[in-house]
Amino acid sequence: MSSENYLIKSNASLKNQKPLQDKVAIVTGSSYGIGFAIARRLAQDGAHVLLCSRKTENVDKAVQQLKEEGLSISGIQCHVGNEKDREKLVAMALVTYGKIDILICNAAVNPFVGPLFETTEEVWKKVFDVNVISTFLLIKLVVPHIQKQGRGSIIICSSFTGYIPEPHFGPYAITKTTLFGLTNILAQALRFMNIRVNGLALGVINTNFSKVILKTPELKSKLIPLGVHRLGEPEECAGIASFLCSEDASYINGENIGVTGGMLGRL
Ligand code: NAP
Repeated sequence: MSSENYLIKSNASLKNQKPLQDKVAIVTGSSYGIGFAIARRLAQDGAHVLLCSRKTENVDKAVQQLKEEGLSISGIQCHVGNEKDREKLVAMALVTYGKIDILICNAAVNPFVGPLFETTEEVWKKVFDVNVISTFLLIKLVVPHIQKQGRGSIIICSSFTGYIPEPHFGPYAITKTTLFGLTNILAQALRFMNIRVNGLALGVINTNFSKVILKTPELKSKLIPLGVHRLGEPEECAGIASFLCSEDASYINGENIGVTGGMLGRL
């Protein structure tokens, strides 16, 4: 598509529609926390959103809440590390909405926080399986469907700790560094299909996930030296995700953008 056509689409969307009007988005790990806030924001911005997480009761609760807010939401149980669950997720999006335009890879695990040399093979395998390999395999499954739309957007949620490796986060931090590389390499591979891939380097955000930081003295004592003046809220990670999926970001591709309140400020 020519640059001219991009501008025409962009202007049309600014005048008449919500930025993600009638787009179909899948958000992984979205029954609470940052994924939930992103799912809600994409839907507020006009998308039909399929949310998911490991536990059906969490999915049902999130879907009910967002439907009560008048948003176009559906949900399904999906552990991203499970192949059958990933296939079920994609099939549900296609059956429910007939297409996929946007994928937000947000689900991740961090099963161990502590001294690096206490990490086990099991921990290394689990974090790489869920955080990295499953992310790639889900993207691989979804890309042919986004491709049918002629354009689309993928976001990979990473972490500040991918840039500032913290030994207590060990393998988890290394998965997050790896995701920066995955974002970049996918952006190069998919740009000719008009599929943009960007990453978020999230700071310390006020969710269940970050509670371990506040409970671990070795980590808590580093927050202020690292420049964390306050925790971010999940909603503060959602607008950037929606923007990156919108036509206003049509020339932003392969970037890893910090959402850290200044912790990753760089030239
Ligand atoms: P959270 O509050 O713990 O929420 C995690 C969400 O993912 C829940 O909906 C959970 O629901 C779901 N989930 C967990 N494991 C899953 C799996 N294997 N498959 C599918 N869904 C799964 O976490 P968060 O703080 O929102 O973190 C979201 C993302 O931000 C992660 O990628 C994390 O690495 C990143 N991040 C967070 C922070 C932070 O300070 N919070 C900082 C940097 C990066 P179920 O329990 O029902 O599965």
